[in-house]
Amino acid sequence: MKFIDGMDLSGKTILVRVDFNVPLKDGRVQDETRIQASIPTLKYAMKQNARLVLCSHLGKPKGRKMPELSLAPVAERLGSILGMNIPLAPDCIGEQTREMVNGLESGGVLMLENLRFHPGEEKNDDDFSKELSRMGEVYVNDAFGVSHRAHASVVGVTRHMSSCLGGLLLKKEWEYLSKVGDPARPFVLIAGGAKVSSKLGVLENLLDKVDAMLIGGAMANTFIKANGYSVGTSRVEDDLLDKAREIMQKAMDMNVQFYLPVDFMLGQGPDAESGEGVCPFQGIPAHLMALDIGPATCTLFSEVLHRAKTVIWNGPMGAFENRPFSQGSRNIAEIAAGLQATTIVGGGDTDALIHELKLQDKYSFISTGGGSFMEFLEGKTLPGFKALEECIN
Ligand code: ADP
Ligand code: MG
Repeated sequence: MKFIDGMDLSGKTILVRVDFNVPLKDGRVQDETRIQASIPTLKYAMKQNARLVLCSHLGKPKGRKMPELSLAPVAERLGSILGMNIPLAPDCIGEQTREMVNGLESGGVLMLENLRFHPGEEKNDDDFSKELSRMGEVYVNDAFGVSHRAHASVVGVTRHMSSCLGGLLLKKEWEYLSKVGDPARPFVLIAGGAKVSSKLGVLENLLDKVDAMLIGGAMANTFIKANGYSVGTSRVEDDLLDKAREIMQKAMDMNVQFYLPVDFMLGQGPDAESGEGVCPFQGIPAHLMALDIGPATCTLFSEVLHRAKTVIWNGPMGAFENRPFSQGSRNIAEIAAGLQATTIVGGGDTDALIHELKLQDKYSFISTGGGSFMEFLEGKTLPGFKALEECIN
């Protein structure tokens, strides 16, 4: 795979797949994090006097033109960030769009309209891919967040370009997430969140790579129950008890330290106004839920984390959206932020938690991908990466 840095792009027209799928409110961009994430790549190419043609999807128009999902507000916000006017093409393909691309000056930027207004985008349709490929000479993928999708702008288009590169954001994701293959040790995974089922692939793939796993969140309940203890009314996945036992056995066989919570904060339910106190893992009452890890668990996890050289974290330790059940997640976020280690975080809720605590600058890397982050950790080859590797350039 080749990346954009070190490449001579001067005078070239570059088709850049960005992830500008931002939240909108009243026709305005509500959160510009994803736009900001693309700025290093855009500035790099602009400095080289390339012509930039940007393409992205926004929301789920399902192959139909929906004016409320136009990228116009995004083009406007990007323009104010870069301090220039950024025109929006009426479509992402077609003659009129081609003319606008041809009219670009060097260092200029053009935004194409929502890719998903065409059904061919999500279908990875070859004709659509070919049409899209006519909008540039060099293709750059800087959209890690959609790189697990075999869509036309991620995969199909690369078959019709003579040169395909990864952008700077893609490179950063690749470099940090690749540490999984050759980590500084001890290497510790913190896994939490709502369900074992959605994290099963990650747990299984990382079992032979990590030195320790720290399990929190509702998924810990399934493991606690699998060990024969009652979990009261806690969220639990009864169909995964055997699987949970299998994972714990494998961990033992492989000499991976597998830590479950030793105490819990209890409550009536995730939305309860207050907690019902802390109890040890063997003592969850029949009528209550385990909604957060307790203080003894935080101390235990802290000891393991302080020895770590590489930490990957996905999934909050409890029902953190509600203050009474947020302390465990807050504690772990503070502890991980203070480590002298490479700390990598992914997942929408975990990311939100860290931003809420304003700790984002204290981590080595926060992934911009949700699904793509998880699939990478599951050991899958992302279609977007594969397409870049296979592009003949
Ligand atoms: P991420 O988005 O970071 O991958 P998940 O979506 O897997 O994380 O999990 C986050 C969700 O899990 C949150 O909504 C949180 O309230 C919920 N959760 C975590 N622990 C518990 C628990 N003990 N009981 C109920 N819900 C929990
Ligand atoms: Mg989530």
